[in-house]
Amino acid sequence: MTETIMHFINGAETVGSGSRTQPVYNPATGAERAQLRLANKEDLDAAVAAARKAADSWGETSLAKRTTVLFKFRELVAGHVDELAALVTAEHGKVLSDAKGEIGRGIEVIEFACGIPQLLKGDYSDQASTGIDVFSFRQSVGVVAGITPFNFPVMVPLWMCPIAIAAGNAFILKPSERDPSAAMLLAKLWTEAGLPDGVFQVLHGDKETVDGLLTHPDVDAISFVGSTPIAKYVHETATAHGKRVQALGGAKNHAIILPDADLDNAADHLSAAAFGSAGERCMAISVAVAVGDAADALVAKVSERAKAIKVADGTQADADMGPVITAAAKARVIKIVTEAASDGAALKVDGRELTVQGKEDGNWVGPTVLDNVTTDMSAYTEEIFGPVLAVVRVETVEEGIALINSNPYGNGTAIFTSSGANARKFQRGVHVGMIGINVPVPVPVAYHSFGGWKNSLFGDKHIYGEEGVAFYTRGKVVTSRWPEPKHASGASYNFPSN
Ligand code: NAD
Repeated sequence: MTETIMHFINGAETVGSGSRTQPVYNPATGAERAQLRLANKEDLDAAVAAARKAADSWGETSLAKRTTVLFKFRELVAGHVDELAALVTAEHGKVLSDAKGEIGRGIEVIEFACGIPQLLKGDYSDQASTGIDVFSFRQSVGVVAGITPFNFPVMVPLWMCPIAIAAGNAFILKPSERDPSAAMLLAKLWTEAGLPDGVFQVLHGDKETVDGLLTHPDVDAISFVGSTPIAKYVHETATAHGKRVQALGGAKNHAIILPDADLDNAADHLSAAAFGSAGERCMAISVAVAVGDAADALVAKVSERAKAIKVADGTQADADMGPVITAAAKARVIKIVTEAASDGAALKVDGRELTVQGKEDGNWVGPTVLDNVTTDMSAYTEEIFGPVLAVVRVETVEEGIALINSNPYGNGTAIFTSSGANARKFQRGVHVGMIGINVPVPVPVAYHSFGGWKNSLFGDKHIYGEEGVAFYTRGKVVTSRWPEPKHASGASYNFPSN
């Protein structure tokens, strides 16, 4: 019998009343490790009702008490990094050091949320008009649902819930059904930190549960991170049901490499950015745009590094890269690489046949480098989400910028150069939300905000940072007069001015 992964509703683990379940696999072995309970309408209603009730009292809880819980939660997450990372590696497949890295980035957001009293400080205009003061402040939205992808089962929920909760909301997490266990440990840590029942809940499910959250009259806001078609659908459906929505989508991140760059440094970083986490990062670099003379040397250097990568079970200490998430994901990556090769791309490093001894049933794909990729190939048009680097050759930095801007995605991008003028032209010219200058994976620190442009984000607000605080709160402006009785004047029928 494998383990059953339950929901976390109103402060307790529960099997719920839904009868549907789904297996959760270890991608490195192919073995089933658990059965996941999928929520039905009754489970959803129970979670939303508990959240509504909890939001009403939690929103009234003092900032001092809320931050006490946040500080404690930060300590507990930091004290459980090994346990969380082991769960991530067992269900996602990424190597343990990388799993710890994502937890570290999540902890940064908790630390940011610990500063919520400062972040929620309003503005005050004394004597805006004679005897009148005007001030503004922000209050929680109410019940927030977070729907998250498989590729960062700890970091992405932590992009959302610490800020939503610090701001006084109740938060329902609908994690990816592929790697749901880390979310359950987070729920236990929130409870241990002293968070009241119902403020953080975990509801497992698929489209049925997501649709229930998007349309439920008692859910006020949706934070979504996942693929572009689902992000668009989530944004359209939830806004049509009157909710505030931020929906972050997929990506096709390009890095431009100029001939004046340190090509060894660029090749090191490109290789890590393309193949780290088996390319399953929304900020992975999947297209290298090699400018002019940089191309031949760059392709040789990146290929050398790709061949040296140790692909193994992520629990192995010397592993650089683990498997991809599912057998279907593996088949899709192989199909795209095969199409590119038959359409004329040069297959410099071919990871299609890779297997790992003793783990033959794992979802293995080795690092793959495709040179001379053109924009009509599926290796260019599709988000591959696997360990594949496509090299597109151009002649000028302007041509590279135009290529990036003609792409429908706009999540992240990078330039490798020693020219400040070219870097500045790039940072100002690209239609992309997050930009790296000699930094290949420019995920912003927690006190800035994360978000792409175009098909990489639907909605107005980026996630975490001050935009996250704005998303999880609503503003109020108060115009106030306290006339002393002797000064009280009669009604004025003019539009008030001073
Ligand atoms: P996904 O879109 O398949 O799933 C994301 C969430 O949506 C999951 O919780 C899933 O249960 C739910 N979902 C899936 N299909 C649905 C449907 N038809 N209706 C309603 N809900 C549905 O994404 P994934 O494969 O888990 O994650 C990988 C994708 O996420 C990639 O495209 C990646 O670029 C993107 N991503 C983006 C960011 C970002 O910040 N922009 C960060 C991480 C991942």
